[in-house]
Amino acid sequence: MNYLLMWVWRIATPCALCAAGMAQSVPLQPKGAIDPQITAALKQVSAERIQATIEKLVSFGTRLTISAQDPAAIASGRGIGAAREWIKSEFERYSKDCGGCLEVKTDTFTEEPTERVPKSTEITNVYAVLKGSDVENAKRIVLVTGHYDSRNSDTLDVKGDAPGANDDASGAAVSLECARVLSKMKFPATIVFLTVAGEEQGLNGSKHFAKMAKEQSWDLEAVLNNDIVGGDKSAEQNHSVVRVFSEGVPVAASEQDIRRIRGLGGESDSGSRELARYIAEVGAAYGGGVKPMLIFRLDRYLRGGDHYSFNQQGFSAVRFTEFREDFHHQHQNVRTESGVEYGDLTKFVDYGYVANVARLNAATLASLADAPAPPANVHLLTKDLENDSTLTWDASPGGLATGYEVVWRATDSPEWEEAQNVGNVTRATLKLSKDNVIFAVRAVDRAGHRSLPVVPVPER
Ligand SMILES: [Zn+2]
Repeated sequence: MNYLLMWVWRIATPCALCAAGMAQSVPLQPKGAIDPQITAALKQVSAERIQATIEKLVSFGTRLTISAQDPAAIASGRGIGAAREWIKSEFERYSKDCGGCLEVKTDTFTEEPTERVPKSTEITNVYAVLKGSDVENAKRIVLVTGHYDSRNSDTLDVKGDAPGANDDASGAAVSLECARVLSKMKFPATIVFLTVAGEEQGLNGSKHFAKMAKEQSWDLEAVLNNDIVGGDKSAEQNHSVVRVFSEGVPVAASEQDIRRIRGLGGESDSGSRELARYIAEVGAAYGGGVKPMLIFRLDRYLRGGDHYSFNQQGFSAVRFTEFREDFHHQHQNVRTESGVEYGDLTKFVDYGYVANVARLNAATLASLADAPAPPANVHLLTKDLENDSTLTWDASPGGLATGYEVVWRATDSPEWEEAQNVGNVTRATLKLSKDNVIFAVRAVDRAGHRSLPVVPVPER
């Protein structure tokens, strides 16, 4: 999509800031551009494929992390070992369909006994890597994940059924479906399709994987965690909304970071929050039947998830979860009591909804993997007292950027409100007071793919 088309998206409502002296600037609505190849890929996402994946995962009876994974259990098709082998074979099948474009890998480690892991247990994450087509940009990684383990009422019950259709076969199915569809395309940056185990025992799998990414200095730009995205068919469900949770003040922030955040009002500008805003823009651009509802908190009350493991290592990571959860259908033994059905069964899952969530994930992954790297060292000059604002940055590495946009919003606004194309430069002055808005800079390529925006640090 070219810039001309993007002009169509000009803001309809008058902008307060424009009146404050923006003579040379023409504001653009900071909505993502539409790439016809991505639109075509989203059409390939199939509710029937997702249904088949979820039903297959449920067929393993239980996927409790501490359930059987010896060869006999794998052969019998029951337990986490059998589920793991099937996921691996599924990724391998997708890879065969794209001429070996996916590298299918496992990350296996031994978890020593903890409260929810009674004896030392091997845990395996399964993932597929779609390597970037551009040498420089292939170092950049975006990742989608869901947990393939499940549980019932008792986290230590290794024998009883734990179907886990919604929690979290739905999330694992999103990761698999994104792999199936996006592996037919080429992107300059790398996409990792991950399924982890151990979530229900204490986020063990994601903790190990995120630590590995940190230790190996992965340039991991974004993590999309899908957990409970089945769109449970309860009466009050909203099937047109998916919640996107993101941390505010980063858990990995240093003391120095926190001082700056406190001083300048940066509580809502973590990397994860910028990723959430990016998802909102992608959702608005591509539609796709489900609207991201940004929730400005790490997670739901009393709950946690795998995105937190990545946040702990300093990565930007968000959680997708259906609008309304039915707690009778999570972490429950399958049974009927006083006319109420308990258990995480396939009959409560809305496959069309999961497909829509997969489309939103795929559109986000594709947009980011097509986009240039974000600009580095973004600074806001604060040496002089003045009402203009000057931003400087280092050019986006990797050679994809053909220009930059400065985006901004009022300090009490949740999402970016304005964007200005400043050209292929590394410095821009705006007729706006830095004291009154929050700025960020993002790189743009010829086709209009935008990088994640980077909020400047003050430079004196
Ligand atoms: Zn879960």
